[in-house]
Amino acid sequence: MGADIAAIVQKNARFTAKGQVASYIPELAKQDPSLLGLCLMHTDGRTQCFGDFDKKFTMQSVVKVAVFLSALLDNSLPSLFRKINISPTADGFNSIVSLETKSDKKPLNPFINSGAIVSLSMVAGGTPQDKFERVLGLLQRITGNPTLEVNEAVYRSERATGDRNRALAYYMKSTGILECPVEPLLDAYFRLCSVEADCRDIASLACFLARNGVTAAGETLAGRDTCRLVKAVMSTCGMYDGSGDFAALVGIPAKSGVGGGILGVVPGRCGVGVLGPALDEHGNSLAGVMLLHDLSEAFDWSIY
Ligand code: GLU
Repeated sequence: MGADIAAIVQKNARFTAKGQVASYIPELAKQDPSLLGLCLMHTDGRTQCFGDFDKKFTMQSVVKVAVFLSALLDNSLPSLFRKINISPTADGFNSIVSLETKSDKKPLNPFINSGAIVSLSMVAGGTPQDKFERVLGLLQRITGNPTLEVNEAVYRSERATGDRNRALAYYMKSTGILECPVEPLLDAYFRLCSVEADCRDIASLACFLARNGVTAAGETLAGRDTCRLVKAVMSTCGMYDGSGDFAALVGIPAKSGVGGGILGVVPGRCGVGVLGPALDEHGNSLAGVMLLHDLSEAFDWSIY
């Protein structure tokens, strides 16, 4: 207790120089690798912000938390699990291999690209545009930020270079896992990955999970069991193939994205939003993970 959070953030800022910004989406390569921001939103209503907390970044895979949450709210568990598993994987986030080799052909989990695309296909809505609006609307209500919107330049860049995601989606269409037209669904997926947020928005989504489905405004938007499931899958699958190390070293449910964001949940205590666009070899914010490690030690965050 009483740890100097600003000093912990400053101490870890030097690690930003050791990572690389994502470049496979050309627009992401323009990010400033030296940024490091933090927001802690406590379940008692206090908010603490540090460093580059107010810089905007695209959510990328962090948005998969909201997509999975929407799919859980809109489907029964048996119908969702007919299409998707919740197993960790050491394969990369955009890997296609298990879709072919596993006999059930289902994506391994909702936090790799194939699984997020299938989750999105299960979200309520007659068209992919409706599904996009359903997820964005839920995000806006949870965060209390109606101004959340798509960064058009990143969206166009993703759409122009998203052939791996097209390969995943067309493959899943061929095996019957995806049942809707591929291109409009991918368009909605690219737009959701390109939703721009800051550390405060991420922390408020995390705090919502820390409070088991209750927003800061006191609105209940998801049940306790649903939030528990989301957090459990975050714990096992949220940090790409670095999830095991992260569980051991930090010990909180978390989800990262290649835009440098990390959403962390300290159940019952606080939601954490981190920005650090310089990534490690797993695709996680390098300085962000180091920062979360130090905070976990200082505040005894590990759930294990
Ligand atoms: N939009 C990115 C993609 O589909 C998200 C990847 C990520 O953050 O892991 O490639």
